[in-house]
Amino acid sequence: MRAHEAGALHGDLGNRGPAWLRTPVDVNALVPQLWPRNVARADGGALTVAGLDVRELAAEYGTPAYVLDEDDLRERCREFRAAFPDADVYYAGKAFLCRAVVRMIAEEGLFLDVCTGGELATALSAGMPPERIGFHGNNKSVAELTRAVDAGVGRIIVDSFAEIDRLTALARERGVRPRVLVRVTVGVEAHTHEFIATAHEDQKFGFSLAGGAAAAAAFRILDEDVLELRGLHSHIGSQIFDASGFEVSARRVLALQAQIRDARGVELPELDLGGGFGIAYTTQDDPAAPQDLAKRLAKIVDGECAAEQLRVPHLSIEPGRAIVGPAVFTLYEVGTVKSVPLGAGGGAADGRVYVSVDGGMSDNIRTALYDASYSATVANRASSAEPMLARVVGKHCESGDIVVKDEFLPADVQPGDLVAVPGTGAYCRSMASNYNHVPRPPVVAVRDGRARLIVRRETEDDLLALDVG
Ligand SMILES: *Cc1c(COP(=O)(O)O)cnc(C)c1O
Repeated sequence: MRAHEAGALHGDLGNRGPAWLRTPVDVNALVPQLWPRNVARADGGALTVAGLDVRELAAEYGTPAYVLDEDDLRERCREFRAAFPDADVYYAGKAFLCRAVVRMIAEEGLFLDVCTGGELATALSAGMPPERIGFHGNNKSVAELTRAVDAGVGRIIVDSFAEIDRLTALARERGVRPRVLVRVTVGVEAHTHEFIATAHEDQKFGFSLAGGAAAAAAFRILDEDVLELRGLHSHIGSQIFDASGFEVSARRVLALQAQIRDARGVELPELDLGGGFGIAYTTQDDPAAPQDLAKRLAKIVDGECAAEQLRVPHLSIEPGRAIVGPAVFTLYEVGTVKSVPLGAGGGAADGRVYVSVDGGMSDNIRTALYDASYSATVANRASSAEPMLARVVGKHCESGDIVVKDEFLPADVQPGDLVAVPGTGAYCRSMASNYNHVPRPPVVAVRDGRARLIVRRETEDDLLALDVG
């Protein structure tokens, strides 16, 4: 699902980091697009979120901790709904899912995508209406499909012929008619600043459009008439900034829609264009606002439907990262600061400063997994020291255990300082591990000057409880 996100492996950034980072910045400034909207630096210099001082949060909940600005997340939900008033907005739960977040997105009128039994169980236990749940996944088990059908989920996005067979058998056995979408692999792979419109059939998700499998899947479902085919689905990747990938994808999937109409006389009523809308992790990222995206997508779909003489289907989209990613920052405490020479003629001035924090790849694997870039700031105080290019690393036994590859921090950063890393709401807690038996951090939601724990910190007892040997 985010396999497309992987860029080239960690490139050689040189002694001084990437070119755009060579100009020192004001180490106390908060670039608004990187931070939840209720984060500020107070007069005393410490960060506050919705009026709460991060030093108090650290004292109360410990570090590392994921801090969620609840109103920021809710505002992002509202922006998507306002931008796509006629579409259903499915929050992609895999970005980050817990019961409190399910309730927040439900209250804001969103739908919810899940892709495993565990995510489905979380959604249902939080009271998400089943008809507002979509069920994804390329290898749903019979048990998972049975739970989804029995719960009455609103739609199942079918991904293989084997799944169609299983679901058809299940529907006959249960005497129900599940609503399904066919996931189409349109041959577009979207990257951060580009898209490639060929040769990306070679991946595990969906039915190939070019190879004819997508049409065959739709025909089989229509001909057997046990499942209710509601429409086609396409998801082209993640962290996308360029709408042209969506354009190619919509054109191709609507051409299939026309082919189905011509062959079977049916106009499918729905179309899902997936998620993948990019967010800013550093000052180099410039994501589109939801309303701009919406305009582009509507124009593309209207134009294609007119060209194919199709009625415009009911649209849905599936943002995950763009809802929760920017609403969260991770709060760490600095443990050691180490300056190392870079060798080969490099003097001390050419060395790199490693700032080690009390978490790392166990709470944010994205830097190691995708070569992702992040930003950071010292959060417990402002500093008048010189900016210093630093690398924020974790406490794990891997040299690839990097949280922030390159960032200017004040030269007086020291053990005991708090460091905040923004943009960690998506694919950080949800991909967290217990590597090195480090318990996973809590998630603290802050709103109107009040904090509440929505996912507690894992304890060593939790870890030992699984160890029954
Ligand atoms: C992961 C995924 C999404 C969400 O992607 P984001 O980049 O978080 O917006 C949406 N739809 C499908 C099918 C996915 O697999």
